[in-house]
Amino acid sequence: MRPMSSRFLIDAHVHLNNYHESTRKPTVENVRELIAKMDDIGVDHAIVITSYKVDMDRPSAEEVIEALAENPRTTVVEGLRWRGEQRTDMFSLEERIRDGLVKGIKLYPGYDHYPINDPSLEAVFRVAAKHDVPVMIHTGDTYAKTAKVRMAHPLLVDDVAVDYPDVRFVMCHLGNPWFQDAAEVLYKNDNVYADISGLTLGEFTYDFERYVAMRLKDMITYMGDPGKQLMYGTDWPLVHMKPYVKLLQELDFTDEQLENVAWRTAAKVFAIDESKLATARPRG
Ligand SMILES: [Zn+2]
Repeated sequence: MRPMSSRFLIDAHVHLNNYHESTRKPTVENVRELIAKMDDIGVDHAIVITSYKVDMDRPSAEEVIEALAENPRTTVVEGLRWRGEQRTDMFSLEERIRDGLVKGIKLYPGYDHYPINDPSLEAVFRVAAKHDVPVMIHTGDTYAKTAKVRMAHPLLVDDVAVDYPDVRFVMCHLGNPWFQDAAEVLYKNDNVYADISGLTLGEFTYDFERYVAMRLKDMITYMGDPGKQLMYGTDWPLVHMKPYVKLLQELDFTDEQLENVAWRTAAKVFAIDESKLATARPRG
């Protein structure tokens, strides 16, 4: 059972990719591991995000949807492939959204070598607005050396937040290490949210956890009300779940802010029914 005092806990950022050849497993096995981890930590619901690439280690949205079918404790967000040979077909993506199989879109500027304010993305934002689904955006440091980090700068999210006021945007990873810029974009725009995922790899070292907690506290001081826009998320399996719950506890939120960051804001952004959370409760 989790040591948290919030009513629920939603992890707004997990993956079913394989990250190392040595631990490569089929998607159904990664699903089993995810659910086991959620039970262990006391996570009620997880937002599962697919990749900007489809290969041996990165299952397609279709494969992930099938592996998670009938699983009430997960929500699928589809990662867009917007450059290169195998691009996402917007028509079939829209179909999956219309059918309720996909509840959000994830963009990978930087990894996929485009900035988020690229005019070609208008087609994506129109679909998001039409079907009222959020657009998640990778911001800040990238896991791949081949990515261009300038294109993933959080300040660029302000451009699209202003141009598409009907779209809810989620800045993933708080623009790490440009936390101050991310805080300004959040403070200024009511249609921008952020998850706190992926701020380390695996476990935190003591010093780095102090560093991250300090940066988060600075952001929160600047933003005023973090409960409104910040969401808990890990980036599992790149990040372990346990140290992240500990980080959440160390941020000195008021009870009300904790409820919002732990689950209420994510439930709102991804349209997850509260009664569904209650009935799908893991047993601890
Ligand atoms: Zn991620």
